[in-house]
Amino acid sequence: MAILLLGSNINPFTNIKKAISEIEKLSGVSITAKSSLYETEPVGFKPQPMFINCCLEVSTLLSPKELLYQTQGIEEAMGRTRKIKWGPRVIDIDILLYGEEVISDKDLTIPHPELHHRLFALIPLAEIAPNILHPILKVSIKELISRKF
Ligand code: ATP
Ligand code: CA
Ligand code: CA
Repeated sequence: MAILLLGSNINPFTNIKKAISEIEKLSGVSITAKSSLYETEPVGFKPQPMFINCCLEVSTLLSPKELLYQTQGIEEAMGRTRKIKWGPRVIDIDILLYGEEVISDKDLTIPHPELHHRLFALIPLAEIAPNILHPILKVSIKELISRKF
């Protein structure tokens, strides 16, 4: 079981839907739960449209690296460019969790290093998996959210 966070602030409803259908098409990946779509404020670089975020739970035969490459392939095919750090984007697909694995490679960190800081990731995640434990902090997603208030 892995958890993906999708984000977009350029035609976001269309692009989130498109990304979900592309993820469904990946071989060795099936979507087992899907959160609602959440409207969230941009972070880091403010003067840009609101984001839509959505969390997916997937069951996958792919390794964490393969899942990263496949999801990056979808980002590229959908026209993602990386101009402004944290700037407007057609689609962003982050791997938040991959089972209980803890990975820190140069191009892949799992759990996502910002997960516990970001309500726009924690809130959709809590909708589909409130009780799973953060593999490093060893507390539930629900508890991580309550610590932010
Ligand atoms: P942030 O990571 O703060 O959410 P971002 O999503 O805008 O920022 P990107 O430009 O999409 O950042 O990704 C930069 C790099 O992050 C990617 O090339 C990828 O190798 C790396 N990366 C590390 N850990 C992860 C992860 N868990 N999920 C997705 N990408 C990751
Ligand atoms: Ca991101
Ligand atoms: Ca990303």
